[in-house]
Amino acid sequence: MNAPLNIAMPAEAAAAPKSYRLLIGGKFVDAQDGRTLERRSPGHGFTVSRYAQAGAADVETAVQVAHKAFETGPWPRMKAAERAAILLKAADLIEARLDEIARLDVLESGKPIAQARGEIGGAVDIWRYAAALARTLHGESYANLGDAMLGVVLREPIGVVSIITPWNFPFLIVSQKLPFALAAGCTAVIKPSEMTSASTFVLGEILMQAGLPDGVVNILAGLGADVGAPMVSHPLVEMVSFTGSTRVGRMTMASAANSLKKVSMELGGKNGQLVFPDADLEAAADAAVFGGFFNAGECCNAGSRLIVHGAIADDFLGAVKALTAKMVVGDPLDDRTKVGAMISADHVAKVTGYVTAAENDGCRIYCGGKQRASSAGQYLDPTIVRDVTEDMAIAREEVFGPVLSVLTFESIERALRIANNTPYGLSAGVWSASIDTCMSVARNVRSGTVWVNTFMEGYPELPFGGYKQSGLGRELGKRAVEDYTEEKTIQFHRGQRTGWWVG
Ligand code: NAD
Repeated sequence: MNAPLNIAMPAEAAAAPKSYRLLIGGKFVDAQDGRTLERRSPGHGFTVSRYAQAGAADVETAVQVAHKAFETGPWPRMKAAERAAILLKAADLIEARLDEIARLDVLESGKPIAQARGEIGGAVDIWRYAAALARTLHGESYANLGDAMLGVVLREPIGVVSIITPWNFPFLIVSQKLPFALAAGCTAVIKPSEMTSASTFVLGEILMQAGLPDGVVNILAGLGADVGAPMVSHPLVEMVSFTGSTRVGRMTMASAANSLKKVSMELGGKNGQLVFPDADLEAAADAAVFGGFFNAGECCNAGSRLIVHGAIADDFLGAVKALTAKMVVGDPLDDRTKVGAMISADHVAKVTGYVTAAENDGCRIYCGGKQRASSAGQYLDPTIVRDVTEDMAIAREEVFGPVLSVLTFESIERALRIANNTPYGLSAGVWSASIDTCMSVARNVRSGTVWVNTFMEGYPELPFGGYKQSGLGRELGKRAVEDYTEEKTIQFHRGQRTGWWVG
């Protein structure tokens, strides 16, 4: 039994909650019906934020404003160099407020502060990358169609984009979408998660300060059904960029299909790390702990299935367990913390429910498995579940908590079958010194990313997204700006047209 956590109260707990208003048309405004929404800090248990809570009427106004900014405003018509300059200015302003933004994400999500700083630093890098891409966006020309014809293919901004984001990486995920949409010349309406909206509003302030024209970015706090759903169905929205659960992604796509909108979907994952006996097992053990417990496992990319060769399973898991015991679990504001708080009490119940069901099915709870007593907030002990089989819910469904499910294999064919036996296909990792083994796994795993002898690294240059039910489309990478464009073909005919149809 681990000792109860004593969580120190931060200065914010004694102050009034920070207030945020909707950003519509360059102004921060109350919701039209005056409603507000509060967020309690999951790590400390006090009310940290109060937002204006948007409803359908606010969505209507925000979409109309974004549409007008697109149809008649300067943003889509500017030189790419001018748009890039504003994105670069925004990156500098984010960097200048990095600590403040990180702290907001920590207080609302419960993630560890050192990790949050890394995420905001990563976001700065993405804004700069998008600024660079803005200036590379171009179409194609075809001078090979005969003397009388020149074909030109333009890349035009698609229009108003609805951006809907989850709670687990509040600032990072909006930064994987918005700068690319802006680089293309689009306008946007954004709905962050109702649990973690604060840092997105700070981003709104920053964009205004960086010189973004009014109405180009509009931000609405509120619930999925009230705000997200009309943002998807609205006829003036041309594209929906959604990150969240596969369940809501499916509903969103069905709704977007009614008006044939373009959709980009970044959804859930049930990712495997495959560990072979010839691997650097020390490095693999560290990556297993990182993959399982980073962001308290509340991570689409979590390496939640540890798929280990049977011959090394006992020794390897012993090392993983020892590292797990060394990890600091607790106050998200403590710089040493690796595993912070869980997003909500309901989510704790969901995660522990999976562990209990696995235990009832005959699994061994190798460590953890319980909610940790704490003076404030909600925390879970990092958990390793052994003797998991492929048919169990804990092996197939996204648990989204600090829970590593261990499965074993005896051959590479079996390891691959286990890895692919899930409806998801976001990412996977392979650990082996053999190039043959690494290449076989990398080529045969059905997932959007495969890490070879490393895990969960990310770069703006590399596309990210899922196979199967983990999503549709890719974010980041050199085509990220193109995603937010339409192609237009123009055919220029020179001289008198020949081959008349009648006449
Ligand atoms: P969620 O699907 O519950 O919510 C995501 C967003 O959708 C929120 O802003 C929510 O308010 C909104 N929403 C809810 N109902 C809606 C509706 N009917 N119409 C439109 N919008 C609606 O997800 P979550 O719990 O916030 O986040 C966790 C999930 O996100 C996990 O499944 C995780 O794997 C996934 N995720 C995926 C990636 C990725 O890049 N693939 C990254 C982070 C998180």
